[in-house]
Amino acid sequence: MNEEKKIPYKIYLEEDEMPKQWYNVRADMKNKPAPLLHPQTFKPVTLEDLSEVFCEELAKQELDETTPYIDIPQEIQDFYKMYRPSPLVRAYCLEKALDTPAKIYYKFEGNNTSGSHKLNSAIAQAYYAKQQGLKGVTTETGAGQWGTALSMACAYFGLDCEVFMVKCSYEQKPFRREVMRTYGANVTPSPSMETAVGRKINEEFPGTSGSLGCAISEAVEAAASKEGYRYVLGSVLSQVLLHQTVIGLETKAALDKYDIKPDIIIGCAGGGSNLGGLISPFVGEMLRGEADYQIIAVEPKSCPSLTRGKYAYDYCDTGKVCPLQKMYTLGNGFIPSASHAGGLRYHGMSATLSQLYDDGYIQATSVEQTSVFAAAQQFAKVEGILPAPESSHAIRVAIDEAMKCKETGEEKTIVFGLTGTGYFDMVSYKRFNDGEMGDYIPTEEDLAKGFASLPYIE
Ligand SMILES: *Cc1c(COP(=O)(O)O)cnc(C)c1O
Repeated sequence: MNEEKKIPYKIYLEEDEMPKQWYNVRADMKNKPAPLLHPQTFKPVTLEDLSEVFCEELAKQELDETTPYIDIPQEIQDFYKMYRPSPLVRAYCLEKALDTPAKIYYKFEGNNTSGSHKLNSAIAQAYYAKQQGLKGVTTETGAGQWGTALSMACAYFGLDCEVFMVKCSYEQKPFRREVMRTYGANVTPSPSMETAVGRKINEEFPGTSGSLGCAISEAVEAAASKEGYRYVLGSVLSQVLLHQTVIGLETKAALDKYDIKPDIIIGCAGGGSNLGGLISPFVGEMLRGEADYQIIAVEPKSCPSLTRGKYAYDYCDTGKVCPLQKMYTLGNGFIPSASHAGGLRYHGMSATLSQLYDDGYIQATSVEQTSVFAAAQQFAKVEGILPAPESSHAIRVAIDEAMKCKETGEEKTIVFGLTGTGYFDMVSYKRFNDGEMGDYIPTEEDLAKGFASLPYIE
C-alpha cells in the first residue's frame, strides 16, 4: 500500500529516458506477416515497386522484417520533444468511481493539435519525404486526425500537402478542414472529379458520401500523376506501426521506472497502428519468452475485421491500386454503417497485428457504439479528458475488465491507450446526448457482400 502511494498521477520520462530507436516487432516474430503483393502481377512487391508509391526510406522500413531497432533520426527526436513524452496517467479517479481493486493506467496521446497519436508517424513520413528532396505528399483522411497530423508535419518541413477527405467527414467536420488549411494543406472532398478513380466512383455511385478505401485510391493516383510527390498513409502499414512504437516504448520505460508489470493491455483497433505501437515492446517480450500479458484489441461491432473477418489477401483500397496485404479483412468492398468512430471504419487490419492475432498472441473483442459513448462520458466526468470516440472503445473494455476485478477481488494492472481527444466529434456526442444514437451490427448477409469482393489468391 505504502509503495503504491509513491506512484504519481502522471508518470513522465526525462528527455534522456526517451526512446532513441523504434522497435520493429517483426524481427522477433517467427511467423512473419505474409509479403505484400503487387496489385497487377500478384508477385511479392520489390523495393523498386514500393518506391514508386512511397518515399524510399519508408519503402525500406516497410520491407524490413529483420532489423529489431531502427534509429529515430535526431530531427524527429527533436520534434517529438515538443509534445512527448506523452503522460502515462494513473486513473486514480476512475478507479475510485468504479470502486475497483484494479489499477488502471492510460497513455494519453491527445496532447497535440492533431488530437491523436497520428503525429508520431506523420512527422517521420514528412521527414523522409523532405530528405529525399520531394516537393510534397498526398494522402487521405477519414475522420480528419491523420490529415491534420500530416498538415502539421508538412508545414514543419516546408512540404506541400494534398489531402483527400472522405466527403461525409468533409461536410460534417468543417472545422477539421480549417485546421488543415491553416497549416497550409489543400483539402479536397473525396470522391472528387480531380482523379480518374474519383470520377469513376462518382459515376458508379452518384451522390456517394465516400469511403476511406476510395480516398486512398484518389490520393495514390494524385501522387503518381505529379512529379516530386509521393503517397503517405496514416495507419495499416508496417512502417506506421514502427513509428508508433514510440508509444509502447515510452509506456514500458515509464512502467519499468516504478517496477509496474501490467496484466492486461488494451487498445482500439482501426488499421492497427496505435495498438501495434503500444503493444510491440510487450509482445516482443512474449515472442522471446520473457514475459506474458493479456492483450486485447477493441473494434466497433459495426466494422469487426478481427472478430468476424477473414484472414486473406485483400486490396488495401477500393480502387485496387495499392499492394495487396494478407490481413483480417471484411473485404475491400465492405461498406460499414455510419459508425461515428470514423478512425475505426477501415475494412482491414495491419498485417503484423493480423499475424499476431492468428498466432494467438492477442485477443480481440467488439463493442457497440452506444456503450462506447457511455464509457466515454463516464471517463470524461472523472478523468477530465473528453476522449475521441475511437479511443473510447479502449475505455469501454478497460472499464469492463476493471469491473470483472471488482467481482473477483483481483488487483490486476490494466494499461490502455487513450489515443486522442474528441472535440471535433460533437455531432456524434450530440446524437448520444439526444438519445438518437443507434447500434447497427452487420448481418451475415452484409458481411457476405464484403467477402465477395475479396480477390481469389492461392
Ligand atoms: C486514427 C485513429 C485511431 C485508429 O487508428 P489506428 O491506426 O488503428 O490506431 C484511433 N484513435 C484515434 C484518436 C485516431 O485518430
